[in-house]
Amino acid sequence: MADTVTEPRTDLIEKLVSLSKQRGFIFPSSEIYGGINAIYDFGPLGVRLRRNIKQSWYRRMVELRDDVEPIETSVIMNRNVWVASGHVATFSDPLVDCLGKCQKRWRADHLADLRVERGKPADAAGCPECGGRLTEARQFNLMFRTFLGPVADASAEVYLRPETAQGMFVNFTNVLNASRQRLPFGIAQQGKSFRNEISPGNFIFRSREFEQMEMEYFVRPGEQDRWFEYWCSDRMDWYVDDLGLRRANLRLRAHAEAELSHYATAASDVEYRFPFGWGELEGIASRTDFDLTQHQKTSGRDLSYFDQATNERFIPYVIEPAAGVDRILLTLMIDAYDEEEVRGEKRVVLRFHPDMAPFQVAVLPLSKKAELTEPARRLEHDLRRHFPTDYDETQAIGRRYRRQDEIGTPLAVTFDFDSLDDHAVTIRRRDDMTQVRVPIAELVPKIQEQLDIMRSAAARRAQGAVGP
Ligand code: ATP
Repeated sequence: MADTVTEPRTDLIEKLVSLSKQRGFIFPSSEIYGGINAIYDFGPLGVRLRRNIKQSWYRRMVELRDDVEPIETSVIMNRNVWVASGHVATFSDPLVDCLGKCQKRWRADHLADLRVERGKPADAAGCPECGGRLTEARQFNLMFRTFLGPVADASAEVYLRPETAQGMFVNFTNVLNASRQRLPFGIAQQGKSFRNEISPGNFIFRSREFEQMEMEYFVRPGEQDRWFEYWCSDRMDWYVDDLGLRRANLRLRAHAEAELSHYATAASDVEYRFPFGWGELEGIASRTDFDLTQHQKTSGRDLSYFDQATNERFIPYVIEPAAGVDRILLTLMIDAYDEEEVRGEKRVVLRFHPDMAPFQVAVLPLSKKAELTEPARRLEHDLRRHFPTDYDETQAIGRRYRRQDEIGTPLAVTFDFDSLDDHAVTIRRRDDMTQVRVPIAELVPKIQEQLDIMRSAAARRAQGAVGP
């Protein structure tokens, strides 16, 4: 049974890598060519899970609010965007090379952790892998570079965005004028970002292509502390209430003064207790008027805000909650993963929140005979209009239940020979494997009822009550 606070399970990531491949959550990119380091593809179930995460964020951050506008900006932007934001000059990590046997490259500020991961003392000398001599650290810019147009010279050099945030800043006036929002208001976006990380790893936790969900919330100078507190608390609640992650495995870590960027007045990270230690899922920062001021200076355009009520003109301050889809997806799988023994056999279950699960219902005819599969198919097509629905007629029913448990489907509907006469089917619940018989005519409301029960159970589990 799932424990309330998971002790770090060091082999869990390996199990998830293999389950992800086998069941179709995550594949290494370009696998038939040997892959490409730290870049991943998402399979049929991974896509469904990602869409649920993104939709849940979009609903809470945009659909349910009247003060946040969505935007989608381009991956490649004018080079000056990244000059103004500071990324060209300072978006870099310190890199060292091994001069010994393995010749690997490392992030100088991660050496201690990398040694510990390999079972060595944190302060051991030399390369974490082979102990070889290391070069002096040098700064390595993390932005991917490419060329715009046919001529590959310096004037055509552009970058793949390393964050989505700058798209919101450079469109501040466009959105303000088009939407007629007044302060405080936000601009939100989801999209791919790219960082040429020096030491990626821990599966999809740190990859080179990933997806972000970011929001810039513009406020009157002086109101930033209140809004910073507001967003820290609202963001934390999303992970527990909407995603069903266990609060005991989450924490909000405030940055120490020395960790803050020079322009930020406060920053906190939402962190999750991964098997490899606490890791960031989202950064929330109070960034003053730094970004808009920088873009105003560099572009020469007026990015100020005019307050008609007070007749004042000023550059708004901004609070930024910036989250990563991929890390959240990994977290959902870790938090949901459970193993238990059932009648002498190991059962693997992903206990997803019912609104996160790739499928909410699976229709399983008891046998492959047409007299069962035809009506079962019809049922499946009906249910698809109400719930994300899967269908499986391939193996023995026990094995099909196990597969649905492993991919986290909350409910399995079994159509058996009795169904032909009594016009009823069995609903089996993932979490406790109990079954109820319900008339087909009432199936949709009955499934809805079962999902509601599971939502309540997920909420209790997330808040720390013992149980699955
Ligand atoms: P870290 O310190 O772990 O490198 P960061 O502080 O640089 O992260 P931000 O720039 O605040 O990250 O980005 C916001 C979010 O984007 C992160 O909280 C994370 O969820 C996600 N993210 C950032 N870099 C990566 C990456 N290389 N792979 C996957 N997700 C990432």
